[in-house]
Amino acid sequence: MKTLSPGATIGILGGGQLGRMLAMAASRLGFSCIILDPDRNCPAGKIARAMICADYDDETALAALSAECDVITYEFENVPAHAVAFLQAAGSALAPPPKALEISQDRLREKNFLQDIGIATAPYQPVENEARLRTAIENLGLPALLKTRRLGYDGKGQAIIKNQNDITNGWKAMQSAPAILEGFIDFALEISVITVRGADGNSKTYHPARNIHKGGILRRSIVPSGADAPIITEARTIAMKIANALDYIGVLGIEFFVGKDDSLMVNEFAPRVHNSGHWTVEACGISQFENHIRAIAGWPLGDTARHSNCEMENLIGEDAANWQALTAEQGALLTLYGKRHQRSGRKMGHVTRLKPL
Ligand code: AMP
Repeated sequence: MKTLSPGATIGILGGGQLGRMLAMAASRLGFSCIILDPDRNCPAGKIARAMICADYDDETALAALSAECDVITYEFENVPAHAVAFLQAAGSALAPPPKALEISQDRLREKNFLQDIGIATAPYQPVENEARLRTAIENLGLPALLKTRRLGYDGKGQAIIKNQNDITNGWKAMQSAPAILEGFIDFALEISVITVRGADGNSKTYHPARNIHKGGILRRSIVPSGADAPIITEARTIAMKIANALDYIGVLGIEFFVGKDDSLMVNEFAPRVHNSGHWTVEACGISQFENHIRAIAGWPLGDTARHSNCEMENLIGEDAANWQALTAEQGALLTLYGKRHQRSGRKMGHVTRLKPL
């Protein structure tokens, strides 16, 4: 990975709020960004140097991005394999490494990878049809969660199986897509660790956040998490172990379940900046976004220590209509993503409230 000089151009696949906050961090360091996204009005396109409006597998668009950019990164994990292969063949530098994308795009591969490197996960079995689902239920017991292997996010592509009557409808919900069945974990807490690994192989982690989900969507991230010190240390160690095993460059978000018996399991990881790390903008000297840009530019990583405790709240759907009250609230730090259309379930912005350390 070559070291980029200020003035270099960074390509970002995906122009949502994560791409927007990456582009803001990049511009602060003197880089410019080009966004590739099918939506001309995407949040990141509005603030980047340029935007290429095209599908992710459009070869003309990918060739233009490759020609203009010194490094290409992404803000979502479902980048089509074809786009990655095309950019690699065109000689583009890609970070994080495509291997991390390939693994995280498939829940079965992801869980196999974690088990292979000795990291605990929920018990799981692959499911290709209803008969296999019945066998998997015999093996894992109920309740259990059925999830599509690919293209699930924010709780989409998932069905809970509580009893035998849920089996047929649960399998129908997968729409014949290959799936995995996971044992249902009655966890005490969900936490996440944002890790950054530099081109020199050194990694750092941010303090774990406690995450509160509703309807499969992240609502709040709270720092500190309330987990005991040994759990925090173990989660940070596991996060760096995953980054090392992937030979990773950039920010990696890792979600954990903390069991009632203080056990730790990895639920999943995202090879990108992460919603549960937005608080790092306001509560740390160097945010996850800046550290991602530093890592992919081959620069030294910034300090991940926090100067404040905090709580980050996602503004979902009509929550964002409250912007006037939020800007009037003492100590509330508001970020809006510039999305023109508000839809229920759509992340429109977030607010971070700092608290003394
Ligand atoms: P995921 O798409 O895998 O991140 O799942 C979304 C949310 O569903 C997680 O953040 C958890 O709150 C819940 N969840 C996922 N997998 C499990 C599991 N095996 N046991 C209990 N809850 C789960």
